[in-house]
Amino acid sequence: MSMEDIEIISLEPDKLKKLLKENAIPQYRGEQLFDWIHRRYVTKLSEMNNLPKDFINLLGGTDRDLCPVTAGEVFTSSDKTRKMEILLKDGLKVETVLIPENGKLTQCISSQVGCSVGCEFCRSGKFGFKRNLTAGEILGQIFAAREFYFPDEHLTNVVFMGIGEPFHNYDNVLNAYQLICNPKGIGLSSRKVTISTAGITKGIEKLGIDTDGKAALAISLHAATEDVRKKLVPGMKTTLEEIVKALKNYPLPQRRRFTIEYVMVKGVNDSDQDARALVRLLSTLRVKINLLPLNEHDLSDLQTPDEERVLAFTRILTDKGLSVFMRKKRGNDINAACGQLLGEKSK
Ligand code: SAH
Ligand code: SF4
Repeated sequence: MSMEDIEIISLEPDKLKKLLKENAIPQYRGEQLFDWIHRRYVTKLSEMNNLPKDFINLLGGTDRDLCPVTAGEVFTSSDKTRKMEILLKDGLKVETVLIPENGKLTQCISSQVGCSVGCEFCRSGKFGFKRNLTAGEILGQIFAAREFYFPDEHLTNVVFMGIGEPFHNYDNVLNAYQLICNPKGIGLSSRKVTISTAGITKGIEKLGIDTDGKAALAISLHAATEDVRKKLVPGMKTTLEEIVKALKNYPLPQRRRFTIEYVMVKGVNDSDQDARALVRLLSTLRVKINLLPLNEHDLSDLQTPDEERVLAFTRILTDKGLSVFMRKKRGNDINAACGQLLGEKSK
C-alpha cells in the first residue's frame, strides 16, 4: 500500500516509524509529522512547513488533509453545548458533542455509524448498524471539533458515549484511546478518557489487559434484574452476573471506581425494589452511579420518571453508601443529550 492510502493519523509513533523506515525516510521526520498532527492539531500537509517536498508528495501532496472527517452542520444549545455532524468520506455521518462545564470541556465521540445493540430507549440504535468507524475517524472528531471551541476552551475530557458500542469496534477504539492519551500528542490522562459499554464482557477483559486497567470504564447497566435488563437492553446476551464478574476481574487501580450508568425509565426500572436490587448487585464493586432520567425523544414511547421518584430512588442508593451523580441534561434543545444522537438520518 502506498503512503497516500494509509490513514496516517491513526498510526502510533512506533508504527509511523516503521512505515517511514520501509520508505527510507529518516526517523526524525516521523517525530515531526506526529508533532504536527497530535500536538499542534495540524492535519493539512500544505501547512507542515518543516517537511521536505518529497516527503509531502509521498504522503499524498499538499492537497491532502490527513484528517479523514470534516464537520458538517453545527447546532449550539442555549447552555453552550455544541453538537456537530461529522461527515465521513463515504457519505455517511455521525455526531459528536462538546459539553462545557465548570471550566472543563468534555467531548462525547462516536465509535460506529449506528449501533446493533438497539436499546429500547436510545435513538442512536434505532436505524440499525451501518459500519465501524476507523481509528482515524474516531480521533478525527476531536480535530474537526476544534474550530468550534469558544475562546479559552481546552479539551479536558473525552467520553466514548456517542453513537455506537465501543467494544463492537474494539481495536479501532483502543487505537484512538491510546493516541488521545499519548503524552507526546493530545496527552489527556487515562482517567479523563472514559469508554462506555452496554456490557460486553470480552471487551472489559481485553481493555483491562491492554491498558493495565488504566482506561476509565463506564457500564450502561440500567437494570438490576435479568427481566428488566432484557426489556431495556435486548441486544446484549451477557448476564448481569457475568458483567459483575468481569468488573471484579478488571485490574482497577487503587482509588479508582467504575461508573455505572443507569437510565431511569418510568414504571420499568425506577421502583424502590429496583434500587435495592441495584445496591445488592453492586455491593462487592467500587462504583459510582450515574443516574440518567430518560431523555424522551420522538422514536420511543418510554417516559422519564417524576422527580419525586428519582429522588426516592437516589436516597435508597445513597443511604447504602453509594455515590450517586445525577447526569444533567445538556443540549436537550438541540437533541444532543444522551441517547439522542443519530447521525445519518438526523434530518
Ligand atoms: N453504547 C455505549 C456507548 C453509548 S453511551 C453504551 O451504551 O454504553 C450513551 C449513554 O447514554 C448510555 O449510557 C446510554 O444508555 C445512555 N442513553 C441512551 N439513550 C438515552 C436516553 N434516551 N436518555 C438518557 N440516556 C440515554
Ligand atoms: Fe447502542 Fe449504547 Fe444506544 Fe444501546 S445505548 S443502542 S448500546 S449506543
